[in-house]
Amino acid sequence: MNETTKFIFITGGVCSSLGKGISTASLGMLLEGHGYTLSVIKMDPYINIDPGTMSPFQHGEVYVTEDGAETDLDLGYYERFTNAKLTKKNSVSTGQIYHEVITRERRGDYLGKTVQVIPHITNEIKKRLFDVANSEDIDFLLVEIGGTVGDIESIPFIEAIRQIRHELGRSRVLNVHLTLVPSITVAGEQKSKPTQHSVKELMELGIIPDILLCRSNRVLPEDIRSKISLFCNLPEENVISAVDIMDSIYEIPDMLHDNGYDTTVLKHFGLKTGALKIPEWKKFITTLRNPKKKVRIAVVGKYISLQDAYRSIYEALIHGAVANDAELDIVRIDSEEDIEKKYKGNAKALFTKEKINGILIPGGFGNRGVEGKIAAIHFARNEGIPLFGICLGLQTTVIEFARNVCGIKDANSREFNPTTKNPVISLLEEQEIVEYKGGTMRLGAYQCNFLEGSKVHAIYKQPSAMERHRHRFEVTLKFRSTLEENGLICSGINPQTGLVEVIELGTHPWFICTQYHPEFKSKPTKPHPLFADFIRASINVKK
Ligand code: GLN
Repeated sequence: MNETTKFIFITGGVCSSLGKGISTASLGMLLEGHGYTLSVIKMDPYINIDPGTMSPFQHGEVYVTEDGAETDLDLGYYERFTNAKLTKKNSVSTGQIYHEVITRERRGDYLGKTVQVIPHITNEIKKRLFDVANSEDIDFLLVEIGGTVGDIESIPFIEAIRQIRHELGRSRVLNVHLTLVPSITVAGEQKSKPTQHSVKELMELGIIPDILLCRSNRVLPEDIRSKISLFCNLPEENVISAVDIMDSIYEIPDMLHDNGYDTTVLKHFGLKTGALKIPEWKKFITTLRNPKKKVRIAVVGKYISLQDAYRSIYEALIHGAVANDAELDIVRIDSEEDIEKKYKGNAKALFTKEKINGILIPGGFGNRGVEGKIAAIHFARNEGIPLFGICLGLQTTVIEFARNVCGIKDANSREFNPTTKNPVISLLEEQEIVEYKGGTMRLGAYQCNFLEGSKVHAIYKQPSAMERHRHRFEVTLKFRSTLEENGLICSGINPQTGLVEVIELGTHPWFICTQYHPEFKSKPTKPHPLFADFIRASINVKK
């Protein structure tokens, strides 16, 4: 048992979407800037085991960890903002907890007892938290409880963290509550009542918040802070303003630091509050604020209307742009609505009108909008526009190449046409790869070896890399020689299975697709080389 790890529990009140995930990630980053180590757990109150089966319309992007867990996209923020190494243990759902308890009950582990929410469900929740706290040498474990206090679903989680506070005491536990302080009058007067009600609700569940993080449109004035302090039973200095940031989420840690968040946290634990040391982060922010160039990238997908469906892609593009001193303009293109319907497949007309410098085709599932993506790829290949295809983006690129360069007119993926005569993309089961067990997705990190002399090898500046996957279909290996004879270079290969991980074109300014998702490993302080180079090429081609 690790006797020193301190727990920081973050709950949310009043309403959702106040930025709990990003403020948790920001606190992690600031604490690391003070020299501490940490890990972060997200607890989601839904009954799904994980978001892997949920539509992006329901849940935004599914973020994949190195060990192949399909998790909430907040884990993406934690990994981008901090150095925490996250695994499947860092993403907990009500579904997982119940599944575990019911499996044990069926095995007879409870020896005739009645299995109940308290203690059996709450004990399982606590066990998961202590597992992470004890398995790593960390100073802090940050735990973000999904949902809003008052939801029926989150009550067992709140009860579990109440018990941990009771067991470990104030010196090892801190409760942060994120609330909203709206301004509703014409004069912009801030209202503390929703916060008071939310804290009351939390107190009914036995949690007394130590810090209130108050989301508001400007710094809380003295009178509001003292009112909140009085009614919510905490020192005035523990009422922290979390001011709306309109420019970039990467400005949030700075704002929270200026408003005293990290120092108040350290003070609670009686820890020294030395100077904050975040030189790389500061460098990133300075470049972000002072771009010298501009770049316009089209993301061609099917969940374009949703802010969060391609979250990691958008963030990785920003990291790549900042690495090139450039301001990024993302043009979101719906491959079905825009290319197929509005422009009747004439991708050239659309992209010329939009004045884009590069095209990115993200991952996806199902055949809606696929022909629009193929039209976009065709345009990029013929016109020398930088193209970056990711996962489904690689698969659609192989289809386009097979049809229009290799002359296999009906080439397709088995995902889109199960009876196609020329499945250039297919399931592994059909490919007789002996090492492969089959049945499920290829998830998490796999090794990719780069072909010597290839562009991808030069970009990574290393012979191989571990990159994260989330897909069922693969390039069908029996078509590999045909594709290569026609000029497609298979420049990244998985050494265990021989599967194609990267394709590129030698004659094109920048035409690279990956079967894996490089976006999951890009950070502001460590932009992914493929994103940085794609942006560099897009800026140069423009000239
Ligand atoms: N639908 C494709 C597959 O399952 C691609 C998945 C993805 O892009 N993540 O292989």
